[in-house]
Formats: sequence, C-alpha cells, structure tokens
Amino acid sequence: MPVSVVTGGAGFLGSHLCDLLLAKGHSVICLDNLITGNTANIEHLAGREGFKFIKHDVTEYIYLQGPVDFIFHFASPASPIDYLELPIQTLKVGALGTHKVLGLARAKKARFLLASTSEVYGDPLIHPQNESYWGNVNPVGPRGVYDEAKRFAEAMTMAYRRAHGVDTKIVRIFNTYGPRMRLKDGRVVPAFVGEALRGEPLTVFGDGSQTRSFCYVADLLDGIYRLATSEESGPINIGNPAEMTIRQFAETIRRLTGASAPIVYRDLPVDDPKVRQPDITKARELLGWAPKVDLETGLKITIDYFKKQVGHV
Ligand code: UDP
Repeated sequence: MPVSVVTGGAGFLGSHLCDLLLAKGHSVICLDNLITGNTANIEHLAGREGFKFIKHDVTEYIYLQGPVDFIFHFASPASPIDYLELPIQTLKVGALGTHKVLGLARAKKARFLLASTSEVYGDPLIHPQNESYWGNVNPVGPRGVYDEAKRFAEAMTMAYRRAHGVDTKIVRIFNTYGPRMRLKDGRVVPAFVGEALRGEPLTVFGDGSQTRSFCYVADLLDGIYRLATSEESGPINIGNPAEMTIRQFAETIRRLTGASAPIVYRDLPVDDPKVRQPDITKARELLGWAPKVDLETGLKITIDYFKKQVGHV
C-alpha cells in the first residue's frame, strides 16, 4: 500500500485529494494547521483504516515515522481574501513550508508534488497562458505574497530536484470550484452562490469584463493524480479552458439558482488579472488529460452543497 502525505489535507483541494488517494488504495497522512482548512472536510474519514490526521504547521520541522512514497504539498491560504488577511503565513508556507516538505521528501526518498498556481503568471501578457510563459507579477502588490510565495516554491522545488535528485512534480492549478469551498472564502464561486442563495445582489468587482476559466474539482484531481503517477515533472497547467467574463459568470449563477436579485458593481481589487485561461496542450499530450465536467453540471453539484451550508435544503 503506497503511503501518501497531503499537506493542507483539511482544505478544499487537499481533502478531496485525501479521498481520491484512499480510493486508489493509498494510506494517507493528512497534515494541516487548520488556519484555512477545516476538520469538517475530513470528518467522514475519521477512524478510517489507512487515514491519519495530524494538526501541524508545516513551516515547523516535520517528523514522521515510517516510509512515505508520495508527498502532495497543498498547504497554503489560497483565496485572495485569505492571503490578504494572512500575508506572512502565506509567504511562510510557500517558502519555509515548501523547504521543510521538500526536506521530508528527500529524507524519505518520496516523490514530491507541488500545488502551484496560475497566479505565477500574474496579470498575464500572453493569452492563453502556457507553461513557458514567465509571468507578469507585481512583487510589492497585495497579491504578491501569494504569487511570489508560489514562485519561490517552484524555484525551491527545482533546486531540490537539481541539487538533491528529489523526484519532483509541479502542477499549476487554475481556478477550481466544487463542494467544500468555504462559503465565506471570498472567491467568486462561493461569493456569488452565497449571495444568490441569500437573495442578496451579486457583487461583481470592476466592470466584470475580466475573464476566468473554471475547473470542477474532480477533473482537477484526475489531472493531478495522472501527473503524480507519470514520469513527467512539469510545470504543467491543469484547468478548464472554457473561459468567460465574470459578468457572464454572474448571469450563469443567477440562472442556475433562480436568483432575482440584481448585479452590483464594486471596485476591482488591486492587480486583479484581466484575463486567465490555461493552455492545456501539455496536459492533453503528456498525461492524456482533459476536463470532462461542464460548468453547468459542476455548478449544480456545488450549488447543492452551498444550499446545505446556508441552511436551505
Ligand atoms: N470577483 C467578483 N466578485 C466577488 C469575488 C470575486 O467579481 O465577490 C472577481 C474577482 O475580482 C476576479 C474573479 O472574480 O476577477 C475571480 O476571483 P477569485 O477571488 O475567485 O480568484 P482569482 O481568480 O482572482 O484568484
């Protein structure tokens, strides 16, 4: 039975990854300091054979007994509101945390997969974004704490690969949605769905002409698992190339929730990327991966989850 460690395993993506790995026959050690993760996301796994949760801040030394085959480094605040509220923790987990987790991978001779992000491309000057683009990031802006932490994490990962021969992989994750996102995490999917379900106006930032491309969580994890079990090292984009404006997205949420409240406009946050769409040629060709879940199907599942969260049934 392969042993996998998932850092950030009580978060949105990390908890789904724990589920997937257990389903694939791995035993899973889930590490999380719970600053943005939540044990509610893994409570269905409590007591399950092959699953262990350890509350731990991975910026501190990590001691684990026994062999480890795979390490998935997913620990980080990941929504703009979270990393604006937790700027130093965000930088620390990307830098010190990645260093510690790579050290663990080296000591255990484990394969290491870094959850990186489309934010490494910043406010991109090429469109769609492919992996050879170096990005357009403002290091001193409010989003810089996340973008630069992840860019440093990528550099550190490559350094461990080159200097210590650690078997590393880097995935660049584009906007992903699904059950277990926090209703109040500030990202656009829970924000709009929450507003729609509460009968409040949907708050579009800027004029809503900025674009994003939304990937359903199960598709994303399929791509990540394929990368982890391939001989590719990346970086490799995983995301859904179906791009739309945020205004169109707000209309979609209104239609799917039957909301009648209007759309209101607020100031665009500083350095909010104007466009974003993954070029997934590499994932298609090297991993045989493409997203399968269309936006409407994925959103319906997600809206049902949020209905329970806001007290609707
Ligand atoms: N956004 C919005 N209203 C909200 C939350 C976000 O219009 O209540 C916009 C935000 O300005 C951005 C897009 O939706 O252009 C996606 O934002 P999110 O926070 O989900 O993630 P990002 O892609 O910016 O990292």
